[in-house]
Parts: sequence; C-alpha cells; structure tokens
Amino acid sequence: MIQLQNYINGELVAPQSNNYLEVFNPAKGQVYAQAPDSNLDDVSAAVEAASEAFDSWSNLSTNERCRHLTNLADLIELSQDELALAETIDNGKPLSLSRRVDIPRASSNLRFFAQAITQFATAAHEMTDAINYTLRQPLGVVATISPWNLPLYLFTWKIAPALAAGNTVVAKPSEVIPMTAYKFSELCIEAGLPKGVLNIVHGDGLKVGAEMTKHPKIKAISFTGSTKVGAEIAKVAAPVFKKVSLEMGGKNPNLIFADCDYDKMLHTTMLSSFANQGQICLCGSRIFIEESIYEKFKNDFVAKTKQRQVGPPLDDNSKLGAIVSKPHYEKILSYIALAKEEGGEILCGGNPVFPEGHEEGWYIEPTIIAGLPHDCRTNQEEIFGPVVTIMPFTSEDEVLEYANSTVYGLSSTVWTENITRAHRVAKKLEAGIVWINTWLQRDLRTPFGGVKHSGVGREGGLEALRFFTEAKNICIKYE
Ligand code: NAD
Repeated sequence: MIQLQNYINGELVAPQSNNYLEVFNPAKGQVYAQAPDSNLDDVSAAVEAASEAFDSWSNLSTNERCRHLTNLADLIELSQDELALAETIDNGKPLSLSRRVDIPRASSNLRFFAQAITQFATAAHEMTDAINYTLRQPLGVVATISPWNLPLYLFTWKIAPALAAGNTVVAKPSEVIPMTAYKFSELCIEAGLPKGVLNIVHGDGLKVGAEMTKHPKIKAISFTGSTKVGAEIAKVAAPVFKKVSLEMGGKNPNLIFADCDYDKMLHTTMLSSFANQGQICLCGSRIFIEESIYEKFKNDFVAKTKQRQVGPPLDDNSKLGAIVSKPHYEKILSYIALAKEEGGEILCGGNPVFPEGHEEGWYIEPTIIAGLPHDCRTNQEEIFGPVVTIMPFTSEDEVLEYANSTVYGLSSTVWTENITRAHRVAKKLEAGIVWINTWLQRDLRTPFGGVKHSGVGREGGLEALRFFTEAKNICIKYE
C-alpha cells in the first residue's frame, strides 16, 4: 500500500494526526493508496512555512522565478510516462488521455507562466505636473484548491501563476485523486525549489479546504470545483475581504444549426459529450439541434456513440474509462433514473458496465437522452458524467432562450457556417467562453472562467497574474 505524505517546508511529512484517507483505483473499485487526513495543525504548519519563505521568494528576480518554474516543467516532461500512468490509475481516465492531454498540459502551465511573468508590465499615467506609476505586488501566502477531474492539469494551472507572481502557496489537491500532486512534490524536491515556497496539504475538503479558507494569514483563494463549495468559500471569505477566484460548475449548451459542417460537428460533438467520461467542466451536456437535421443527427450520433468502447483505462481500445469514485458513479446513475422519471427516452446507454476482470470498478455507458423539456431538472442541474440530452429547436431566439435558461454560464459551443449568425449568437450567449465550430481549443493567454453560478473572476494569461497581485498606485509630483 502506497502511503502519501504532505509536502511542507520543503519536506515530505506525515499528517500530524497520523490519520490517513483511503485512495481508490476506480478501474477496480479497490483501495490502492493512503493519503494524509490532514487538519488545522498541518494547514497551520504549511502557512507558517509559506510565510517564512515569502520575503526571499518575492524578492527573487522574475528571471530566477522563471528558472525555477521552467525546471519543474522540464521534470514533468522527463517523468511524463510515470505521471500519466499515475494519473490514470488514480482518476480512471484512459491512459491515452493522460498522456496526450493532462500531463503535457501540466508542464505547459508551468512553462507558460514562467514566461508570462517575464513579460508582465505595469502602467504609468502622466499628468502635467506629476506622474503615476502602478506596482503590481504579490499578495503573500495564497491558497489553491482544486478538483478531481483534471488533477495535475488544474493543480498546476493555479500554482504556476501564483508562484510566478511572487506569492508563496498552500495548495490542496482533491482528496479523491492525490497521487500526481504527491509525485509533483517529489519533483519540487528534486528541482531544488526553495523550501516553503510551495506547500501541499492533502485531505478532506472540510478539514483542510475550509481551514485554508478561514486562515487569517491566507490572503487569497483560487478555487476550482463545484458551485456548492464555491458558495461556501465565498461566504467565509467575504466578511474578511479575502480575494477569491471561483471556477465552478457548468451545464454547457451546444447549439447546432443546420448549416454547420456536419461531419466536423458530429466528430467534435462526440468528444465534447464523452471525453474524460463527460467529466470536464467544459463538456457540452445539453445538445440543441435545428429541427431540420434533428432526426439525421439523432440517428448518426446514437450509432457513433454505440461504437465508443467503455473499458479499463489502461486498455488502448477504451474510449471511456472509469468514473472517478463510487459516490460520483451513484450520483450519475441517479440522474439517469431521474431523466427516466421525468419522461426522458434513453436512446442509448444508461447502464453500468462491468468489464471482465474489473467487475468491481465504476463504469457507465455513454448515454443519450431525448424527449425532455429544456427546463426539467435533468436539463438544469450539473450531472458531470457521460450523459447528454438532445433537443430540437426551430429558431435562433428559441435556442438562445433554452441555452441561457440555467443558472450556469461556463462555456458554449456553436456550430454554423453562417458568419454573421455565429457572431450574433456568440454575443448573446450567457457564458464566459464560446467556441464556434470547435471545442476545447485553448490558448493559455485568453481569459478563462464563467458567468452566473459558474464563476467569479477569470484565470488564464495576464488575468491570473493580476488576480495573484495587488495594484498599488504611486503618484510623484515633479515640482
Ligand atoms: P468539489 O467542490 O466537491 O471539490 C473541489 C475541491 O474543494 C476539493 O479539493 C475539495 O476537497 C475541496 N472542498 C470541499 N469542501 C470544501 C470546503 N467547505 N471548503 C474548501 N474546500 C472544500 O468539486 P469536485 O467534485 O472535486 O469537482 C467537480 C466540480 O468541479 C464540478 O462541479 C465541475 O464542474 C467543477 N469544475 C469546474 C471547472 C471550471 O474551470 N469552472 C473545472 C473543473 C471542474
């Protein structure tokens, strides 16, 4: 049994309580590791270490900080096979996905912000008799809290800008998938990252995440996870005016117009529906199709989906792997039951799968549901699994009303070859990100985040560096 440790003040240490949480391999439904069940004592030790390290880290030149982050990016690349395998065993996602997306993106995140900080400039505002210049200074000790769906990918997406900007960090990965964050702490030691600059505290949301949120020495919280937990964090942070960046849930619409490039749309819609078992915050779970192509789309989409093999994530033929945890697996199945109760027709899937030799694992068929109104619970609440609904529409206004009808507003995808329609619809969609004739195409310089209950603030590019710094204006009179 592998026993993971916290990374505090440059060292791997056991949780002070000496208690551990079980870590499951979702492909087999079996415990395969233990992660620290940390508490306030560990959080406090991490915050102390980060406070001690702040002066020297924030006073390093940007080139020096760039060098440290680049070293870490290099080490991730050198260990990419090992990290990809660890990610897949921990999370259940197909190995091909960990290799192609998760681990390369983790190193790109570090490399991107290592470079970005060397280009981060501030403004000067000249007056006739004075000049203003604005400093952007690091905040101090900041916290990052990340979810289970893209483990090392989102963990590094947060710590990289925080560290690049000169903050020291206490980071909490999800307790469901602690393995690659633990392996990353080993890489930090190998890279010689100065002690206390990054601290990784494993454990439960309430015992670690909530304590980080409350801690008076933590100046800002960068959170990615559910809207429910985001609201909890906001409630605690608001009265003490802590800076928060909240990246939360989604119920993203796909708007498919009859004039789209049909084959490209069908291919991409398959990915946007079921990649990572539908457990990407950007997956399109509500698919609206213009009525004239609805029947054709329905038949083609169902036929194609039936070919997508669900199986052990280490098997090269598996297009969908395992669902991350038993509670999440049960939640998804409960939503499929709800869709049936609401009168939905299951066009394909809808059942658990028990691959040979992995009968105890948590697998669900990719599921397409039709016949539901846009405002039922199945179409309003986030399921976050391999489950999509399809619905016809007749006009642009109608589909915009449906698309914008949820409390969420993370991303949207529009399929049309009509350029004026594309711009018009994009402008009216209530979302932080709109993709036209593509999906999940990311440029790390662009703002990333949601509106309504999907998010507060933006990550990505300079937005993230602005979040992790405070502006200070200095005005000097000439005469
Ligand atoms: P979650 O909210 O349950 O947990 C996220 C993190 O918060 C975990 O590390 C957890 O331990 C911690 N946490 C739990 N309770 C806490 C508390 N009271 N205080 C502080 N921290 C606490 O989310 P999840 O189930 O891990 O992830 C799935 C969710 O994340 C989905 O809703 C998905 O849409 C969302 N997500 C959003 C984005 C985005 O960019 N908007 C990206 C990925 C995932």
